[in-house]
Amino acid sequence: MGFSQWLSLTFIFHAFLSLPISSEPSLSPEGLPQIPVNFLELAKRPEVFDWMVGIRRKIHENPELGFQEFETSKLIRAELDQMGIPYKYPVAETGVVGYIGTGSPPFVAIRADMDALAMQESVEWEHKSKVPGKMHACGHDAHVTMLLGAAKILQDHRHVIQGTVVLVFQPGEEGHGGAKKMLDDGVLENVDAIFGIHVSASRPIGTVASRPGPLLAGSGFFEAVISGKGGHAAIPQHTIDPILAASNVIVSLQHLVSREADPLDSQVVTVAKFQGGGAFNVIPDSVTIGGTFRAFSKETFIHLKQRIEEVITKQASVQRCNATVTFNDNGQPFFPATVNNKDLHVHFQKVAGDILGTQNVLEMQPLMGSEDFAFFAEVIPGYFFFLGMKNETQGRFESEHSPYFRVNEDALPYGAALHASLATTYILEKQSKPNPPKGSSHDELNPS
Ligand SMILES: [Zn+2]
Ligand SMILES: [Zn+2]
Repeated sequence: MGFSQWLSLTFIFHAFLSLPISSEPSLSPEGLPQIPVNFLELAKRPEVFDWMVGIRRKIHENPELGFQEFETSKLIRAELDQMGIPYKYPVAETGVVGYIGTGSPPFVAIRADMDALAMQESVEWEHKSKVPGKMHACGHDAHVTMLLGAAKILQDHRHVIQGTVVLVFQPGEEGHGGAKKMLDDGVLENVDAIFGIHVSASRPIGTVASRPGPLLAGSGFFEAVISGKGGHAAIPQHTIDPILAASNVIVSLQHLVSREADPLDSQVVTVAKFQGGGAFNVIPDSVTIGGTFRAFSKETFIHLKQRIEEVITKQASVQRCNATVTFNDNGQPFFPATVNNKDLHVHFQKVAGDILGTQNVLEMQPLMGSEDFAFFAEVIPGYFFFLGMKNETQGRFESEHSPYFRVNEDALPYGAALHASLATTYILEKQSKPNPPKGSSHDELNPS
């Protein structure tokens, strides 16, 4: 008997043991409390854990940037093939969408992002990135692995899932808006709800954190070229100095949040890029500045964008310069705020509480970071949460996007079990309450 056959028999046996299944095998609401706990036990079994660690390390060694995740995508498809899970490919270039269950409603999606970052890994270890200048420093290698881990658990329980779990492997999260592309390709058609996980280096392992309503900010990028007239640095009267103009622009931009915004409506404007000049004695022709802006409501976001453009062009003209402003590389979509559906928050608290203990399911404050999961949650009820990885006994875990970022692989089973449990219990609940009230997550902060 092959290992995988043995494994699936073991899983099915386990499911039959723990769930009240009669002649008609189907998960029942009475069996609900046991499912999450069982799934965590399954995900922690050495054979499943080691398999997940192997996948995660393979992806970590070969990081690929947004929409270039060809090998990652190939690995995902090979694993799905191995498990006998049907999928759609390509979706949004390198994305993969798998299906487990009956193929009929209710449909619930669980999502992982696939891309790495353009940065050099500084962690010295056996499975360090083999690609110079590219690194999985945001844990997306772990996210893909957790979703595959969930796929394995779910596939072994496919006969008792009375609905369909949609596995969303999404490319290009890091500023590329891959989620938007997947939506445009129809990935969420007929899907009732979607869940997403992000690992967190600052929260203890065995804990999760999230909140109902707005969780992460909407974000955009701006770039401006401020043009003057270059010349000799010792004869400023014959020049129009764009460095001085850009400096004033930056100071004025900092007044948008401090003087114009409601202090209770969180916003950020950061200038993170300043390029101009190259010599001590030459005033350059132009300076390029750029940065990001964040807000939670659409109205605030649009207002901020308009004011950024005005401040740059008008303040530049005070210093006799011209300025042109572009947003998001001319055409990339702005990320909306990530707003968690309130009903799904209740569902999450129940399921995660059963797995981890209610004391390990934490409420958190919103963050000004952003996530393109927001595109999904804008269209259907969505829920995004953070999964702790920190373990003091294993040294310091640096934050995401640090060249010293490390994934604590002990978190993998938690992610796999949470994904699988959230999806199966969602389907069960949906069936026990055919028309649950759909609380919209968008009423509050995404006024149309
Ligand atoms: Zn990231
Ligand atoms: Zn990330």
